[in-house]
Amino acid sequence: MSQPKLTIEDLQVSVEGKKILKGLSLEIKGGEVHAIMGPNGTGKSTLASTLMGHPKYKVESGSVTLNGENVLEMATDERARKGIFLAMQYPSEISGVTNADFLRSAINARRGEGNEISLIKFVREMEKKMSFLEMKESFAQRYVNEGFSGGEKKRNEILQMMMLKPQIAILDEIDSGLDIDALKVVAKGVNEMKGPEMGVLVITHYQRLLNYIKPDYVHIMMQGRIVRSGGPELAEKLEAEGYDWIKEELGIED
Ligand code: ADP
Ligand code: MG
Ligand code: MG
Repeated sequence: MSQPKLTIEDLQVSVEGKKILKGLSLEIKGGEVHAIMGPNGTGKSTLASTLMGHPKYKVESGSVTLNGENVLEMATDERARKGIFLAMQYPSEISGVTNADFLRSAINARRGEGNEISLIKFVREMEKKMSFLEMKESFAQRYVNEGFSGGEKKRNEILQMMMLKPQIAILDEIDSGLDIDALKVVAKGVNEMKGPEMGVLVITHYQRLLNYIKPDYVHIMMQGRIVRSGGPELAEKLEAEGYDWIKEELGIED
């Protein structure tokens, strides 16, 4: 597989008639880890949901391509098949479907007809990855996210990512509600997967996660736009000084 590339150009998105993304551009290539940081309500999850094709989010203008293909024309399941993966801020429960069944059908959808993974290979790989993520074996047979704690849900999102091997992984506040041990496990999973075949977009409110998942690029998002981009030092400056200096520079009041 060649090095993936997701290109977002001047994206404008509205929700229920209200403009949330106001011209956002970003390019993510395989091997790169990008972090988007920004205050609450700035449109970070809107970006994630739009990239996945959530019907509530209306693209007013701009473009999104994956390896040159128009993502905005694809249905959500097609985006997933093509290798766009979203670990959601609030993962949903799927009652009646076990984790193992869910993962196996997602993998097979991604691999395509005639190229399904064998049961034995699947089980072995799942066991290996679950053990790597320090998940109890019983999780394989439990219904997806049902009764999982916050930390277990986030680990499960990372398990899905590791099994699905996406081209572009978007992690929306994967650190929210995690204690330090769970955070380390989640980061271990992402770092294990890091490589030229996958680009990562980490969305976070706090700098803490970025001590464990080292970003190559840090972007600050405010009021629906990326207002600053830089290296990891930008996250450190945010941690030390908050957002006020940017607001001042931009002349934003709140
Ligand atoms: P962030 O993830 O940066 O905290 P969000 O993308 O969740 O921000 O929200 C940005 C803005 O869009 C907020 O004003 C929020 O109320 C609004 N919004 C987001 N999703 C929805 C939705 N599904 N329905 C209504 N409003 C929404
Ligand atoms: Mg939020
Ligand atoms: Mg959010």
